[in-house]
Amino acid sequence: MADVPSEAPEHCPGTRSEQAGKASACAGCPNQTLCSSGATKQPDPGIELVKERLSTVKYKILVLSGKGGVGKSTVTSLISRVLADSNPDKNIAVLDIDICGPSQPRILGALGEQVHQSGSGWSPVYIEDNLSLMSIGFLLGSSSDAVIWRGPKKNGMIRQFLSEVDWGNLDYLILDTPPGTSDEHLSVTTYLKGAGITGAIVVTTPQQVALLDVRKEIDFCRKVNIPILGVVENMSQFVCPKCKNSAEIFPASTGGGSAMATDLNVDFLGSLPLDPLVARCCDEGKNFLTEIPKSPTIVALREIVTKIVDKCESDKENLVE
Ligand code: SF4
Repeated sequence: MADVPSEAPEHCPGTRSEQAGKASACAGCPNQTLCSSGATKQPDPGIELVKERLSTVKYKILVLSGKGGVGKSTVTSLISRVLADSNPDKNIAVLDIDICGPSQPRILGALGEQVHQSGSGWSPVYIEDNLSLMSIGFLLGSSSDAVIWRGPKKNGMIRQFLSEVDWGNLDYLILDTPPGTSDEHLSVTTYLKGAGITGAIVVTTPQQVALLDVRKEIDFCRKVNIPILGVVENMSQFVCPKCKNSAEIFPASTGGGSAMATDLNVDFLGSLPLDPLVARCCDEGKNFLTEIPKSPTIVALREIVTKIVDKCESDKENLVE
């Protein structure tokens, strides 16, 4: 397929759609000749490039959330750090493709790091010996810079991120995606088609409004054939760091994530209590495993990570081919 044009009009019907080059929005578009020739409808060579690049990655896991504000990026970094810590012989990496709000560099303590490019691709930033990170945040001038990109350019960036990072041999690649079910999710799913997605972890909070959105996310996964590793309920309780008493922040009026998971026939991986000390470590990019190893959040996390590892290693037959 020819390169995705970056100057497409706002109402571009999609370069691979039946209407490509023929819709009224196409009139005057500099790509009209190319789109109407049918060249843009050919299979995207990016799929093969991504497959080749990720052939050295054993498990590819998407972290999804139905809505923003449920702590998806924090949960991604928590899981990744614990996964790396409890499996020192395995290589873990985080790919932050939350294009509109990349927060992994801050949470994983890599703000201001530079990404280097070599003949074999972009080199990720190392957080620990066996934990690396690539994020769109590294390509922005400052952490407050806004990323305002339209469809084709976002698609192109996702393709580059999936096909041009030189990860080396990896056991786990954890992908932090934007909230909801947007074009970015479709791009990721499309490009990972050849390489295979091991499964998705869906993050929610216990209250009804978040659970409703999670149902849509699970429906999306089923429609695009992404196996669901399970649901993680974040901020299930607030644990006071001083007196250790706990309180519900979001009352689970309908039974919370566990009841929803049972209802939708997906696994419930566990609940993560909110420990403000863990939240502070994430804000400051510190390693909570060394700062507060006895936090109830970390105890719960270790159990969740064990379940994820068990599921990945036993669910090989569920790989999307
Ligand atoms: S000509 Fe192609 S890029 Fe331009 S608007 Fe139409 S489909 Fe989109």
